[in-house]
Amino acid sequence: MSSFSNPITQQHYLELPSGMYTAAAPAKPADAKLLALNEKLLSEYGLKSEWFKSEQGLAVLAGNKQGSAPSLAMAYGGHQFANWVPLLGDGRAHMLGQLQASNGDWLDVQLKGSGQTPYSRGGDGKATLSSALREYLISEAMAGLGIPTTRSLAVIGTGETIMREQAQPGGIVARTAQSHLRIGSFQYAANSLPQDELQALADFTIKQHFPELLESPSNPYAGLIQAVAAKQATLVANWMLVGFIHGVMNTDNASVVGETIDFGPCAFMDEFHPNKVFSSIDRQGRYAWSRQASIAYWNVTRFAESLLPLLDDDKDKAVAIAEQQLKPFEGEFQNVFVNGLHQKLGITTPAEDQQEQVDGFVQDTISALTQHSIDFTLFFDRLTHVAKGENHASLLELFGDETAGQAWIKSWQGLQDHSEGAAARMRQANPALIARNHRVEEALEAAAERDDWLPFERLSQALINPYEVSDGDQDLQMPPEPEQRVTQTFCGT
Ligand code: AMP
Ligand code: MG
Repeated sequence: MSSFSNPITQQHYLELPSGMYTAAAPAKPADAKLLALNEKLLSEYGLKSEWFKSEQGLAVLAGNKQGSAPSLAMAYGGHQFANWVPLLGDGRAHMLGQLQASNGDWLDVQLKGSGQTPYSRGGDGKATLSSALREYLISEAMAGLGIPTTRSLAVIGTGETIMREQAQPGGIVARTAQSHLRIGSFQYAANSLPQDELQALADFTIKQHFPELLESPSNPYAGLIQAVAAKQATLVANWMLVGFIHGVMNTDNASVVGETIDFGPCAFMDEFHPNKVFSSIDRQGRYAWSRQASIAYWNVTRFAESLLPLLDDDKDKAVAIAEQQLKPFEGEFQNVFVNGLHQKLGITTPAEDQQEQVDGFVQDTISALTQHSIDFTLFFDRLTHVAKGENHASLLELFGDETAGQAWIKSWQGLQDHSEGAAARMRQANPALIARNHRVEEALEAAAERDDWLPFERLSQALINPYEVSDGDQDLQMPPEPEQRVTQTFCGT
């Protein structure tokens, strides 16, 4: 393929039952401009950037020109804050199709903010430029942390003004993903389509993403439940280990392949609190930091329910099979989360006789972080420096209470892993940088409101490798000053 031709050549979703999507073309924006292009992502895919920078490329990514594959909006339902909505669907997104990376993987390319579709339910189908840039920054930060996520390929300014609480510039984010199938896609199929079509959706998902299940002698749909649950368990454990709060863990925002998807009012927390919530719409704290594992379990239970008809004709037997598949979830979550905490703390996984002491220490650490409102990322970063042999003064300072800090450090030293490479292993678990709210807001405001792209570019660049801070980027590590604090994030859609 020439580097000047459109690499989005397939539309795999046409293989799904036709009830799963509707053909839909993006709106033509008033004055499209390529504002950000992720050349690093293109090079990861082994693709050249020429087409994406060309007029042709911009026309396709902005929705001005039909690509080589037919575009569509996908149907899904979902539980939003536990309330069942039978049909949501892509109300402001268009699936352009798939491109193939040089390793053979096919990746979806979807536009978000690209206009109305049959699923818009009265919405304008648009996105603010600021929300598109927010998704770009945070999804790429997630990728930098090594956590599965949809990726941001480009941001396009539409040249339009859209109405939110205030008039705002419009934008489109072009994102890539292994899949855009959600738990809500299965719920929708189970609720609204004939059983053979639900089965076709499950077969498609297995063929595309879990082909190993076809080799197994047991029921592949049962295996699918377990596999999707395992992906979700690992994903939320990894979010929690970096202090990430997704914010809207509705079943329509849970990807069956376990990628982080739909970056709305999500945030990385600064000072630690297990009940921390940022989303302005999450008034009950349903999606608080510490609740994410039980919510993910609730979500995969909804996934399992949607597959019941494929497990056994006898409803009771089907339920028993589904329950069996969900059993490993808790252990899988605990395994990644607890081992991850041990790695962050630089302590060895305890032998049986030490288990209780280590569990107690981990609990004490969580309590100390909470009680002294300690910055989560800075704490583990400074601890990593202490493990490397640096003085512990700057760690101690974070406690704001000398006696409590000294006591904690003493217990930590009693459990510290002194084996070869211990500090380096801590480094791998402890990012020096996160996409701090105040930095994200600062970058979005400068770019979207003042056309000043320096803070956005600087932050994106720094987050590519958040485990190392370049000289001159140390300020990005620091928590906000009181006047810089961002305590709430909005869907800002
Ligand atoms: P989200 O909060 O982005 O996950 O969206 C939840 C649902 O609302 C999805 O079905 C979206 O497609 C839909 N939606 C969000 N914003 C808009 C909009 N501006 N116009 C139409 N539909 C929207
Ligand atoms: Mg969504």
